[in-house]
Amino acid sequence: MQELVYHSTRDTSLKATASEAILHGIAPDGGLYVPDRIPTLKKSFDELSMMSYPEVAYEVLRLFLTDFTDEEVHAAVNAAYNTDNFDREDITCLMKANGAYYLELFHGRTIAFKDMALSILPHLMSISAKKCELKEKIVILTATSGDTGKAALEGFANVPGTGIVVFYPKDGVSSFQERQMITQEGDNTHVIGIHGNFDDAQREVKKIFTDEAFAKEMKEAGYVFSSANSINIGRLIPQIAYYVYAYTRLMEDEITFVVPTGNFGNILAAYYACRMGVPIAKLICASNDNKVLFDFFKTGVYDRNREFILTSSPSMDILISSNLERLIFELAGDETGKLMKDLATKGRYEVKNLKGSDDSENPADLFVGEFATGEEMQEEIRHVYKDCGYVLDPHTAVASAAYRKYLADTRDLTTAVIASTASPYKFSASVLKAIEGDSYKEGNDKELIGRLNKISGVEIPAAVERALNGTVRHNTVCDPDKMKEEIAKIYLR
Ligand SMILES: *Cc1c(COP(=O)(O)O)cnc(C)c1O
Repeated sequence: MQELVYHSTRDTSLKATASEAILHGIAPDGGLYVPDRIPTLKKSFDELSMMSYPEVAYEVLRLFLTDFTDEEVHAAVNAAYNTDNFDREDITCLMKANGAYYLELFHGRTIAFKDMALSILPHLMSISAKKCELKEKIVILTATSGDTGKAALEGFANVPGTGIVVFYPKDGVSSFQERQMITQEGDNTHVIGIHGNFDDAQREVKKIFTDEAFAKEMKEAGYVFSSANSINIGRLIPQIAYYVYAYTRLMEDEITFVVPTGNFGNILAAYYACRMGVPIAKLICASNDNKVLFDFFKTGVYDRNREFILTSSPSMDILISSNLERLIFELAGDETGKLMKDLATKGRYEVKNLKGSDDSENPADLFVGEFATGEEMQEEIRHVYKDCGYVLDPHTAVASAAYRKYLADTRDLTTAVIASTASPYKFSASVLKAIEGDSYKEGNDKELIGRLNKISGVEIPAAVERALNGTVRHNTVCDPDKMKEEIAKIYLR
């Protein structure tokens, strides 16, 4: 197969193979790795429609990971997409409700869509390490505001040649999220609470990543640091597979995907699926009240200089959507580095002629920005439940409400698939508030989950039982300036 080469969005002369890009995560100049071309699907849709999820994932991944052998791609796919890691044999499924399809991406070990990529990334990493003849063990460092940390822990738990340390703000995550993390199993997993907020944890992790003396000490002891961040192509590429899979289950002329967006990773994967040949009519990029992307698609101006709003869809509370840089590269090419510099120094940049040019190939034409407020999100949960008995989580409900607005504006009746990114059980309190309204009463996690179970009739996922009933295995808490020392205690002392 023709070799794919990856290069930085800011300097196309900085090149890497797939395995190098997966190991490094980010390009040396701070840009993101993009493939020098997007491959097209080699199997027909008829053939793909007969395949299982792991088989479709294999067909997608092998086209991007051209320095992996077929056996290696198979091994990674099979280690990730099985019933040890997912509570459905088909891995993901489409549910029809209220005139649209919901693509349920939350059947993995942490009941959020991040499992779709984080269950395979550790395997892609350890294969890449072998390929690049890395002698050291990989230590993943992650600062988390709740969801990513747990998904990374589950992904890396007991994967040979890897270790993972997750830092979370001790008083900054929900009690359920904390329980999920501190009950984590696996001899190579470490979870540490910090006295501080998410930004403190994030800042210290970045400092540790660039501490050369510490890196040298770790290397001498046989370890290198890496990151499981969503800008890694090893997270992006596996996400393309479920868009191909969803299309081949429906086989309509065209499909519109609606994606609840934060870091722009999930929807970018849909865009890559389109470039691979999936007939996609529109990609609706749904934001919550932090609607930087909505404004960008309307005006061509990306401006993060605004108030950060805490919402009930926390995984979308983001003012810098890192993965957008890859779309910007498609639109602005060599200018990308300059625009990203503008973002770093001025907090804003402008893409000229974002839309309305004669260029029929303009990738931005595929995207529609929409948003939904907290109230619209709650109303959507309430009425989809009342009308169809189907319960949405707040993130999916933002997308669903955004789609409803799009429909009202356009009357576009193209079949729509809404990416359903979390199980409602992960956000029981918000969901119950929306459904029960004035009769809502507070309760502990167990009570809320029990109530949601009665209302929805959906079986309580094993992940929830594990968190509620698991043994606490991690209890270290430290100040932010002691984080490095805690890592040293694990690996060096
Ligand atoms: C991470 C996350 C999102 C946002 O996805 P991006 O790839 O960052 O755009 C949406 N919903 C849930 C539940 C998430 O965990």
